[in-house]
Amino acid sequence: MWSTCRALIFALVAASNFWHVHVQEFCQSADPDYHCHDDAASSSQPSSSAVKSRWNVKVSNLTRDMDRFRVSCEKLIKLLPVEEVDGNFVRTVKNCIFSKSIPTPLRGPLWLAAVSKDVIEGILDLDVTVTQSEDFLLYASGGRLLPGSVPLAHRYGGHQFGYWAGQLGDGRAHLLGQYLNRNWEVWELQLKGSGKTPYSRSGDGRAVIRSSVREFLCSEAMHFLGIPTSRAASLIVSEEPVFRDQFYNGNVKTERGAVVLRVAKSWFRIGSLEILSESGEIDLLRKLLDFIINEHFLFIRADDPEKYVVFYSAVVNETAHLIAQWMSVGFAHGVCNTDNFSLLSITIDYGPFGFMESYDPNFVPNTSDDEGRYRIGAQNDVGLFNLEKLLVALSPLFTQKQQKLAKMILKEYANVYQMRILQIFKTKLGFLGEDEEDSYLVSFLLKMMEDTRSDFTMVFRQLSEGSANQLRSMNFTQMWALDDLSSHKLFSDWLNMYLLRISRQQSDSDLARQRRMQSVNPRYVLRNWMAESAIRKAEMNDFSEVELLFHILSSPFVTQDTAEEAGYAARPPLWANRLRVSCSS
Ligand code: AMP
Ligand code: MG
Repeated sequence: MWSTCRALIFALVAASNFWHVHVQEFCQSADPDYHCHDDAASSSQPSSSAVKSRWNVKVSNLTRDMDRFRVSCEKLIKLLPVEEVDGNFVRTVKNCIFSKSIPTPLRGPLWLAAVSKDVIEGILDLDVTVTQSEDFLLYASGGRLLPGSVPLAHRYGGHQFGYWAGQLGDGRAHLLGQYLNRNWEVWELQLKGSGKTPYSRSGDGRAVIRSSVREFLCSEAMHFLGIPTSRAASLIVSEEPVFRDQFYNGNVKTERGAVVLRVAKSWFRIGSLEILSESGEIDLLRKLLDFIINEHFLFIRADDPEKYVVFYSAVVNETAHLIAQWMSVGFAHGVCNTDNFSLLSITIDYGPFGFMESYDPNFVPNTSDDEGRYRIGAQNDVGLFNLEKLLVALSPLFTQKQQKLAKMILKEYANVYQMRILQIFKTKLGFLGEDEEDSYLVSFLLKMMEDTRSDFTMVFRQLSEGSANQLRSMNFTQMWALDDLSSHKLFSDWLNMYLLRISRQQSDSDLARQRRMQSVNPRYVLRNWMAESAIRKAEMNDFSEVELLFHILSSPFVTQDTAEEAGYAARPPLWANRLRVSCSS
């Protein structure tokens, strides 16, 4: 009987195209100190000259005067060519990496809708009280230039939905400059929604409140989930009218402009290299790649004749890792074009993303993606597609032998991904060591989740919260996601195997397993309905729910009363099913 079931499940799993997962170290999230900084981040105490930073050390001399906050563009401008033409009119740009472009100030009045104390103090060395000043509103919305800033728009191209789209570039983003912080980290500050640039094509250079709230909340939420990402420092909203046809059905509405101040170690993307290769600017391609390697791939020696292959190998590896991490929390990016894939393998350009609720490999968060090209279960394949495009872009710099080597590296991508995803899901299930049935147990569980449309986040969380005895009793009245899952006819077979697997772990205790699992299986993710509810209020200048969500998502692994009261770990409301997000932003 059991072997028949097993054969059946194997066949089902084989039929499902989803089971491509990865490993990860679950980065900081497994670190017991990881949440310490949140104490500082969420404290409502006004900061003093000595505050606790996110690294839990005393930090003094946080800057309280925006005029003393200096950025620099010197390195970028000295080492990379900048277009000489001035003015924010749309044009084709050649032989340059950047164009100078002055932001267009958002029309006031302005409101500070949200701020990440973690970024402001932990990365930018600013005392968070400065964000309450008029100066900050202006600096963080494009109304005034930071000392040292020479605002730049980056020229890049990209493959969009599978096809070469030519020149894209920063159409509504301005790189303000680099900031060297007290930890000797260099961060690049960018405004998004700050007006037209030479790359605006037919766009207005603006971003609306709804997409900006989503970017602010999600980039910070991803960070606290332990997933590499750009960060968001602040969100400023205005009264400036912005016209959007949100669902591309001719229903143009007036919305309001907003600007996110975001930071990343680098904003270069696959498309940054592609445009140079496509237009035959090979010397510039080499120059940009050398710059990126020197600045961000410190383990690669400048005189290594294989340096470009080593770079490629690192990007392949880290991209596999990143996508595996996305899958571990059910995150679908929504628009995995090559221009939205970072060369540093961090999550960038938040648009119509979504966290999968009911488990479904065909989950497509973006209603503009008719064919489901970027469905959640296809993200690893899309990663492969994008890395192939990167290989093509790098080809002019490779010898024949290196080209072969790069192809072999790319062939390994699928294996790397599989290994990582398996490791991640083993960690999510609390497994220690190796057991030949681990992969089978994971696939079996996912397949049952798919059949019962159980909630991805909460199934793993409730498995983490239940003691072995509780799980064995199968009394799931307090565990709605497991209750759904347990309706599967094979659930008790799986549960028995699972309990046997965890009971065999020597030097482990059930409590230790639960703790371990809770530190990697979030209780709260940014579900669409949560973001939507906060957005509706924000559009009426009530930012309380944005703040609440930000606060809760800063500790996604910790059960919080306010979150429970708001129903953030409960079954999603019925109206959540009707929500749609599109590319319009
Ligand atoms: P995205 O889909 O947001 O990654 O954007 C793709 C390209 O379109 C990028 O070059 C963006 O900068 C540009 N873009 C998107 N929205 C706008 C806008 N409202 N104004 C100008 N450019 C835009
Ligand atoms: Mg983009």
